[in-house]
Amino acid sequence: MSALDRVIERIERARLAFDKKHIVKLVAVSKYANINQILKLYYEGQRAFGESKIQDLKQKSAALNEYPIEWHFIGRLQTNKINHLISLKPTLFHALNSYNLACQLDDRLLKANLRLPCLLQVNSAKEPQKAGVMPEEAIETYQKIKESTKNIDLKGLMCIGAHTDNEAQIIKSFEITKKLFDELKDATILSMGMSSDFELAIRCGANLVRIGSLLFEE
Ligand SMILES: *Cc1c(COP(=O)(O)O)cnc(C)c1O
Repeated sequence: MSALDRVIERIERARLAFDKKHIVKLVAVSKYANINQILKLYYEGQRAFGESKIQDLKQKSAALNEYPIEWHFIGRLQTNKINHLISLKPTLFHALNSYNLACQLDDRLLKANLRLPCLLQVNSAKEPQKAGVMPEEAIETYQKIKESTKNIDLKGLMCIGAHTDNEAQIIKSFEITKKLFDELKDATILSMGMSSDFELAIRCGANLVRIGSLLFEE
């Protein structure tokens, strides 16, 4: 059984434990993978890949541009890289992390006459080293971005699970984000869960998981 098959089987079990009608999308995080490793997964059927550095996104998507792959950008966006990201036209930007960044991004999108689907990143574990809006301000920031930007298509929320071995704390960070997600009537994507905690995330309602090391380590 391939690494991809094993991950899909585990996603499937967690999904069924949550709700048999619940659908979960897998984004294969290829930030530590080379082109051949990505192609191997592609030939096994995987179509969505995620990168966390603009330069890597550019190189890998260019090298694989003849393949119908959807590219996700999951990393932190520095303001001096906004135009670069926009020009790569990713399928989804997961880590919009402030109203200020949204305004700058929207400004560039308007000038380029492009749209960008985005998720608002929530720092639900309230960890100082993590980006994202605090849970208390997430709803207000989400609505403000919706109302005052024109070319950002806000689709939902993203979070990174609490950085701890304490399962209860990880679950709590996912539950906080799920509760906010449910308050947003038009939000459709809830991106949470990585190699170490994706089953917990799915059991808390995640419908998109970002998995890297489990898929690519030999
Ligand atoms: C690297 C990364 C992942 C994947 O992490 P793994 O532990 O390798 O599965 C998911 N999300 C973000 C934002 C990342 O930077």
